[in-house]
Amino acid sequence: MTKEFKPDPVLSEQIDRTFVKDEYEPLGKPVYVKKETALDAMAGDGGYQEAYLGDHLRFKMKRDNKRFWAGDNISDYLHEGDKEKLIDEATEAFELVLDRLLIDRENDPNSQGTARRLAKMYFNEIMSGRYEPSPDCTAFPNDSQDRYEGMLVVRSELRSVCSHHHQPVSGVAYIGIIAAEKLIGLSKYTRIAQWCARRGTLQEELCNDIAREIEKATGAKDLGVYIQAVHGCCENRGIMAHSSLTQTTVLKGAFKDDGNTKKEFFDNIKLQQEFAPR
Ligand SMILES: [Zn+2]
Repeated sequence: MTKEFKPDPVLSEQIDRTFVKDEYEPLGKPVYVKKETALDAMAGDGGYQEAYLGDHLRFKMKRDNKRFWAGDNISDYLHEGDKEKLIDEATEAFELVLDRLLIDRENDPNSQGTARRLAKMYFNEIMSGRYEPSPDCTAFPNDSQDRYEGMLVVRSELRSVCSHHHQPVSGVAYIGIIAAEKLIGLSKYTRIAQWCARRGTLQEELCNDIAREIEKATGAKDLGVYIQAVHGCCENRGIMAHSSLTQTTVLKGAFKDDGNTKKEFFDNIKLQQEFAPR
């Protein structure tokens, strides 16, 4: 005999779960209030506060479907004073990491302030590009009769860390554009590149990020970014290769489609390397 399937009355209940009846009837009659989802509650909108600001921000970003990978900028979610609070919280977490690594942070004088040093270093230095808004790049018009129409190549020193092991990545980015209707100050190219680099990155992604931000700031459609860098990841651990060099290139517009423009870009890079070898 086949047993008749009876759905669970609670699980299969067809009710609108978005609004629920407030059983206290504060107005003396039935009142329906919007039901908070678990993420709403964790994001703290209902007056509920997480013990850690970091958790509160994490839930907020999850609810908004905001990606917060190591290479993403999350400055929109931070308010004044938040960074100091997050550094305090990260200090506490790094203390626990040191304890778990069995490093005596109470008696070893060199390890006493290490947890806080690490927290500050992450927020203010090696990953500062995640927490700070994009550099302010005032653009100047390039639309006069004798406007500059040539190629511009800027070399920017880069310091980054890999997302996988947080090992240092150091190198240079060559940023080339054919000037469009606006120009930005020369130092801004490097500021943008460093803002993109000061996060946990992959060199391939970093190359794309810099190209996208330069395009945004200058309006140039013809551009190229070439990065060469050495990775602590390959030097200090893993294969321990001391002279490995990684090169990545992103080419857009004429840099990609026109052989002469592409050649001019790489000739310029060679000239730069002859002028200041590294
Ligand atoms: Zn790595």
